[in-house]
Amino acid sequence: MIIVWFKNDLRLNDNTALIEAMKTNQPLMCVFQINHPQLLEDSKSQDYFFQSVQSFNNNLTQINQPLHFIAGDTEESFDQLLAEFPDATAIYTNISERGYGLKRDHLIQKVAQNHQIAFHGFMDHHLIGAHELLKKDETPFKVFTPYYNQWKKLTKPPFQKTDLAKFQELAIQKQESELFKQGKQKFQQLIEQAHQFDNIDLKKVRQSYDDFIDNRLDDYPKDRDFPALNGTSDLSKDLTTGLISIREVYWRLVQHAPESDAKQAFIRQLCWRDFYNMVYAFNPEANDLEIKSEYRNIKWRYSEEDFNKWKNGETGYPLVDAAMRHFKATGELHNRLRMVVASFLTKDLLIDWRWGEKYFSEQLIDYDSASNIGGWQWASSTGTDAAPYFRIFNPTTQSERFDPQGKFIRQYLPELGSLSNKDIHKPTENQRKDLNYPQEIVDHKFARQRALDAFKG
Ligand SMILES: Cc1cc2nc3c(=O)[nH]c(=O)nc-3n(C[C@H](O)[C@H](O)[C@H](O)COP(=O)(O)OP(=O)(O)OC[C@H]3O[C@@H](n4cnc5c(N)ncnc54)[C@H](O)[C@@H]3O)c2cc1C
Repeated sequence: MIIVWFKNDLRLNDNTALIEAMKTNQPLMCVFQINHPQLLEDSKSQDYFFQSVQSFNNNLTQINQPLHFIAGDTEESFDQLLAEFPDATAIYTNISERGYGLKRDHLIQKVAQNHQIAFHGFMDHHLIGAHELLKKDETPFKVFTPYYNQWKKLTKPPFQKTDLAKFQELAIQKQESELFKQGKQKFQQLIEQAHQFDNIDLKKVRQSYDDFIDNRLDDYPKDRDFPALNGTSDLSKDLTTGLISIREVYWRLVQHAPESDAKQAFIRQLCWRDFYNMVYAFNPEANDLEIKSEYRNIKWRYSEEDFNKWKNGETGYPLVDAAMRHFKATGELHNRLRMVVASFLTKDLLIDWRWGEKYFSEQLIDYDSASNIGGWQWASSTGTDAAPYFRIFNPTTQSERFDPQGKFIRQYLPELGSLSNKDIHKPTENQRKDLNYPQEIVDHKFARQRALDAFKG
């Protein structure tokens, strides 16, 4: 028997590890591990993830196939599983190329070795894996554009349909065991906490993406920076959990959309996802350390008070506050707003980017460690190919440019709803008093100079 270990690849179709396991024609046991060291309190990211597991579990149930849950410490739970099922000959799984996922894969590989069974890992989560595209001198790319120019030329792996009839023949029926009973209980507990997201459905994800390709792609380059518009694909959260495969996303677009600049602009964004995966794979300390060594000694401020005001949307900068209140409530954040609020935290408040990165990691429903670290190191100017430190976003100008009528702000800061399109970006002192909206936490001009000084050292 083969154990197919599912993680952030929550689908049957186009699942590389599953398709490879099926080629062996051996019985398959589908397993999901709830890894205790990864569990967080009060995390929207986690809630969305486990609801996606539930959606996958429901899909399996519909075809009468069980997903076996195990829960516990990383190695111990697999150790118990393999001890209980000595007829298992191999683990098949889609691997992570970086960060904690990579470390966990290595730990389980060792457990498999101890039990003298094989461990087969497959690159599935990216179009082009971290080690598949290097510069001519065999070193990793540091700058996005040359990476993209080469990436574009590579043939992307095909979408593979899974033979469901064969899967049903090979998958083993539900196994009764105390281990699985406890795993299922833990899962139920996590699902109860995650009721905010109890409607995740691959069919809807596909419909919404098809609608994007058919009706919104042409306007993508123009609309994608405006948070009040429905201008982007909204795919990131379901790519993160693997509900939809990146190959399906790529080939649906390539096959259904005619050639256009808009199509290329969208493909370019998909490439950022691979680029940041590669950057993190080659800079494994980037979760905690500035990639650019010259910025490792910046004197960040560690003001809990200002950090909390940022988290709660009480900075007195309307676009930042609207974004952060919306984020806290939903776990979603538009790319332009991520850039604005990350810049505000690290430049205007000069607070350590690691605090922001951590908060995002807990709350973003599309949380992906490589893209999140990449985004934060970009915004704080500490990463590879990052925003230059002297180009500091002005939060008021960003608001005027990307939310000109204050549509987004009005939605999340209703107390400012009566203000004109001009005043809404920077209410006067009296308006703030009348509307019970906070004064600016810091003067932007002063903050800008403070950040420039800190970066210059
Ligand atoms: C500070 C910061 C943190 C971020 N954290 C994450 C994160 O944890 N997870 C995450 O998926 N994205 C992250 N991003 C990137 C980006 O904001 C989101 O991918 C995007 O907003 C998702 O919306 P969408 O699917 O509608 O994007 P679209 O514009 O429709 O793009 C299509 C896809 O391309 C990929 N993509 C687009 N932009 C980027 C980018 N800059 N970096 C990497 N991939 C990209 C995503 O997979 C996205 O789904 C972060 C950006 C910043 C500035």
